[in-house]
Amino acid sequence: GPLVGNLIGEDHVNYVLMYNMLTGIRIAVSRCQAKIRRPLTDEDYTARHKYSFDIVGNELTPSAKYDFKFKDYAPWVFRELREDYFHLDPADYLLSLTAKYILSELGSPGKSGSFFYFSRDYRFIIKTIHHAEHKFLRSILKQYYEHVKSNPHTLLSRFYGLHRVKLPHGRKIHFVIMNNLFPAHKDIHETYDLKGSTVGREYPEEKAAQNPRAVLKDLNWINRRKTLELGPEKRALLTEQLRRDAELLKRLHVMDYSLLVGIHNMRRGNRDNVRSNTLKVFSPDMPLIRRKNTVGKGPSSPEAIAMRRIMRESDPKRLGSGTIDLPEEDTGERQHFLFYQDEGGLRATDETNDSMDTIYYLGVIDILTPYSILKKLEHCWKGLSADRHKISPVPPAEYSSRFFAFMKAIMRGGEGGGKFKSE
Ligand code: ATP
Ligand code: CA
Ligand code: CA
Repeated sequence: GPLVGNLIGEDHVNYVLMYNMLTGIRIAVSRCQAKIRRPLTDEDYTARHKYSFDIVGNELTPSAKYDFKFKDYAPWVFRELREDYFHLDPADYLLSLTAKYILSELGSPGKSGSFFYFSRDYRFIIKTIHHAEHKFLRSILKQYYEHVKSNPHTLLSRFYGLHRVKLPHGRKIHFVIMNNLFPAHKDIHETYDLKGSTVGREYPEEKAAQNPRAVLKDLNWINRRKTLELGPEKRALLTEQLRRDAELLKRLHVMDYSLLVGIHNMRRGNRDNVRSNTLKVFSPDMPLIRRKNTVGKGPSSPEAIAMRRIMRESDPKRLGSGTIDLPEEDTGERQHFLFYQDEGGLRATDETNDSMDTIYYLGVIDILTPYSILKKLEHCWKGLSADRHKISPVPPAEYSSRFFAFMKAIMRGGEGGGKFKSE
C-alpha cells in the first residue's frame, strides 16, 4: 500500500544536489537511449559525455532550476550492461530513477561519508562515492563488464551508471547507481554485513535489541550461532559463484568488501512493518524535455517513440507528492537471476533441498576499494594492536581467501560444519 512520508523541501541541505543528479541522469540517459544500438568499442569504456545545465537552457539541455555541469561516464557500456545483462527495461529504469526519492534511512552514513538514496520503488540506490573509487571503477570497467557477461548470476553489486555533478563553486560529486538488494515488498528482520574479519566486527547487542534495522556484523553472526540454511543444491551453486566473484576481486586488488545478508522470516511476514515510519521523500520538480531534443534524428524510430513515452510518464507533474507506492510483489528483473528468484531473494532449503520459511537477500557490496597506500598504512597501524590476520585491512589475496573461507563456513553442512570457528 502507499506509504506517506515527509516531503523534502528546497531548504533541505541535499535538495539542490539531488535535483541536479536526477535532472542530469534523466537527460543523459535518455539521450544515449534514444540512439540506435551499436557494438561497443574500446573507446566506450573511457568515454565521458558532458552536459551543461543552466536556467536558460540550450538545444542539448532543457532549462533547469540551477546551474551545474553533469558528466555521464561510459554511457554505452552501462546501457549494454543494463539491457543485456541486468535485464532492465529502459523505460522502467528512467521512470523509477528520476521521479521520487526516499532519502537514506541508513541513519548516519558509513565511515566513508557516502550518502545513499533509494528510488521511490526501492529498486535502485544512488551512492555517492569518493573520487578514488570513481577512478577505480573506470579503470576496471572492462574487467567488470567481462565478468558480468560470463557470470550472469554474479553476486557483485550491479552498477547501472556512473556520473558526476559539478556545482558552480567547483565541488564535484561522483555517484553510482546500483541495485538495492533488499526488496520493497518484504520486511527484512535481520541484516548482516560480513567480511570474514573478526576484529572489531561487532554491533553492540544491547543496541541491536532496540533497533530492528541495525546492521549486524561478523561477531554478532558467530555469537548468535547463525547459519545460512541452504541444502546441497543451493549451497553448491552459491559457493561456486562466491568463489568466482572473490577471485575477480582478488585479481582487481580490491578489499574491504562485504557479503550483505538480509533475512526475511516468512512466518513473521510483514506485520512488523519495520521500515515505514520515518520516510523522507524527495520529489523534484524537474524540467520537461522539449520533444525535438529527445528524439534526435529519427523521430519515428522505435527508440524515439519509446523515449517519448518514457519522458511523458516520468514527468514528475503526473505523480502525486509525499506518497510512495511500494510494489506488492516482485515482478521485474530479479526473475532472471538464480540467487534472486524467490520473492527477489534466495529461499532457505533443508538437506533434502526442500524449502524452508526463510528468504535470504544476499550480495557482495562495497567493491570499489583498491588496496591503496592508505589501506597499507591502516594495515600496519591496526596490526600493531591486534592479530594482523584478523583485522579487516589485509592484502587483497588474503582478504579474498579469508572472505571466501568464512562464507563457506557459515553455510549449514559446509566444510566448516556449519559453524564458523573463531580460532
Ligand atoms: P564503509 O566504507 O564505511 O563500509 P560505505 O559508505 O562504503 O561504508 P557500504 O559499505 O557500501 O557503505 O554500505 C553501507 C551499508 O549500506 C551496508 O552495510 C548496507 O546496510 C547498506 N547497503 C549498501 N549497499 C546496499 C545494497 N546494494 N542494497 C542494500 N543495502 C545496501
Ligand atoms: Ca562497507
Ligand atoms: Ca566503502
